[in-house]
Amino acid sequence: MKLNGQVAIITGCGGGIGRAIALHLAREGVNIVVNDIVQEAAADVAGEVEKLGVEALVSTASVTQREQVEEMVAQALEQWGRIDILVNNAGITRDGLLVRMTDEQWDAVLDINLKGAFICTRAVARPMMKARYGRIINIASVAGVMGNAGQANYSASKGGLIALTKATAKELAGRGINCNAVAPGFIETPMTEQLPPDVRESWMQLIPLRRAGTADDVAGVVVFLAGPQASYITGQVINIDGGMIM
Ligand code: NAP
Repeated sequence: MKLNGQVAIITGCGGGIGRAIALHLAREGVNIVVNDIVQEAAADVAGEVEKLGVEALVSTASVTQREQVEEMVAQALEQWGRIDILVNNAGITRDGLLVRMTDEQWDAVLDINLKGAFICTRAVARPMMKARYGRIINIASVAGVMGNAGQANYSASKGGLIALTKATAKELAGRGINCNAVAPGFIETPMTEQLPPDVRESWMQLIPLRRAGTADDVAGVVVFLAGPQASYITGQVINIDGGMIM
């Protein structure tokens, strides 16, 4: 239990990759703020977290709402007096070809995936700066590194998130805060299970390791970035993609 007694906020962790991150960090002794806009999903994950012997706090704050996020941070500080780790995981897709993409599709994705991460990072920055310690880990995507047809909005949001990671890392490094991103490739979660077989197959052709990733593949790297062995790593993007980008 390398991180015993620490506190993590994980956004959008009612399922998929975020849930796996919550459970992996809980196994390291971290108390978890289980954030998701769906109360039932968050409560289920909080129950699983508590079974691992740590405490959980359920928050249904939307990452797009500054006041709700600030309330979530205030509740965590009231309960534990510290926030060591923020994982900006909440994200959505609203795919479509560029020429047909609506303003609404663009705005929804940028609002949650990029502005939401900014709002959460700003909200935890002050307590982390005061403590002179923090780990911020952003869940980007290979789409933000190499772009993806049909995902102009999503690719732009994740590319922006990578730039936000680097700016945050530079700005907060002097206060003992590390900020890194991971860029998952094709991971089996509710987000990808809707994809038609031909689209899945075309993704598989791009993956040298010839399999989809799992939420656990991503969570393991996030735990590493949150832990003491990653203390000299900041401003980096780690691809978790079976070799898709190299
Ligand atoms: P997921 O299961 O859909 O998880 C995303 C979670 O975020 C959902 O529970 C979602 O709730 C929640 N959420 C949506 N809007 C929110 C808001 N405003 N505030 C708080 N939470 C909100 O998808 P996932 O695959 O685990 O994705 C997790 C992250 O990994 C995302 O950032 C995604 O872009 C990234 N990623 C995924 C893959 C992949 O292959 N799966 C690859 C690269 C990157 P609802 O279910 O109600 O929308």
